[in-house]
Amino acid sequence: MKAQDANSIQPVEAQAASWVDAHRIDPQLLSQLRSIVDEAGLLLGEDVHSRHPGVFMSRIEAQALIRPTTTEQVSAILALCNEYGQPVVVQGGMSGWVRATQTRPGDLALSLERMNRIESVDTANRTAVVQAGVVLETLQDQLEPHGLIFALDLGGRGSCQLGGNAATNAGGVRVIRYGMMREQVLGLEVVLADGRVVSSLNQMIKNNTGYDLKQLFIGSEGTLGVITRLVLRLREQPSSSNTALVCASSFDQIARLLRHMDGALGGQLSAFELLDNNFYRVNTAPGRHQPPLPTDKPYYALIESLGSDQQHDAEMFSRALEQGIELGMIEDAVIAQSERDKQGIWDIREDLEHIVRDFQPFYAFDVSLPVGDMEQYMRLATERLHSRWPEGAIAFLGHVGDGNLHIAIGAGSAEEREEVEACVYEPLAQFGGSVSAEHGIGLEKKRWFPISRNPVERLVMQQFKALLDPNGILNPGKVLDHSVDAGAAK
Ligand code: ZN
Repeated sequence: MKAQDANSIQPVEAQAASWVDAHRIDPQLLSQLRSIVDEAGLLLGEDVHSRHPGVFMSRIEAQALIRPTTTEQVSAILALCNEYGQPVVVQGGMSGWVRATQTRPGDLALSLERMNRIESVDTANRTAVVQAGVVLETLQDQLEPHGLIFALDLGGRGSCQLGGNAATNAGGVRVIRYGMMREQVLGLEVVLADGRVVSSLNQMIKNNTGYDLKQLFIGSEGTLGVITRLVLRLREQPSSSNTALVCASSFDQIARLLRHMDGALGGQLSAFELLDNNFYRVNTAPGRHQPPLPTDKPYYALIESLGSDQQHDAEMFSRALEQGIELGMIEDAVIAQSERDKQGIWDIREDLEHIVRDFQPFYAFDVSLPVGDMEQYMRLATERLHSRWPEGAIAFLGHVGDGNLHIAIGAGSAEEREEVEACVYEPLAQFGGSVSAEHGIGLEKKRWFPISRNPVERLVMQQFKALLDPNGILNPGKVLDHSVDAGAAK
């Protein structure tokens, strides 16, 4: 979903049972921390509480926030905190959706926002070395004159930071073509809980020398180490793009169309986004976006290709769509003829403002499951919701090409949140689905984590945590509880 539109959503104060208030930060530790950074490096009290709290959070509760400018400072901060058993919560652009950055009064928040330098761009090797606090959009803009792109793209691009993108393994709208953040990172520099620096700034696409350590930290949501620098893989800037909106009368048509387009476009398919009828109608209601296609079809898909030869690629794109119609996969299609058309189609997909207003109280979900099971899953989740709230509103959209559905629900009350969540998460179990496709676990989904990870998987995760952060200072209580319980894995 588009993270920046979520700021109007009501905060949820209910917290996971095991995540309780910590005490105040030791004054002696605070004065030692102050000596590590410059004057602007340590914020206290209101200067911390008044910062943007992030999605689903009402304010930053941490009493102090530290803003180092070098890896050496991060290392000194963590070594000290480890000695004191001081919890540390890393905060990036605060555009996440799962409260992985939420703090308690006794936590030390750590922001990499002043480590925001693009250190180098190697055009021959097609790599960039960046500090963790660089904002995604800043990197995208800086690369344009080089004819290169950084392929990760998502709604929060204007505020999210690359360190956070890696720590959460961010996804977005071009995953079908380029993969998630995990696929864009070649090397990392990470500071461990005890202050040791793991410098693994690999520049190569191929490097099979033992375990790929960086992958352990990517997606760890600040629980295993603090990412300070990244080597990123860059790609050639596409010089042609084609966009269409199509409609279908069954999900089976959509699933067949996905395969057909991927094959017919010879590797150029870069987005395949589903919109169900409920979502399409909300965004194309009178006074909102102009509907390019009639509003009575069960499913719509936004399809995009990126290539290098506009005339040739446009012909290939429209021929593939025509074949889709002939083969009975598409009821109707409209191809964007201008940049304005393209934006108009993307706006119908990306605008969440109307649905947040119409669906009250608004809940948003991010799940994944095999494409072949999606139709049945959507039916089960809808039936489950309507058996409890017959008037409840539900809409499906998302990156169907990646097996990723976003679900918008307007039903129940704030107190009934867990019941609403059960309607979405419990039917996933039978399909081996995931309660988080691209948003992570944080605190928000911790309760549902066991649906997607079995006891042995959870135990191994706890063992990694115990190895890398034996005192449990890094983002404690997030993702899963970290006390190793060998009995759980029987
Ligand atoms: Zn998404």
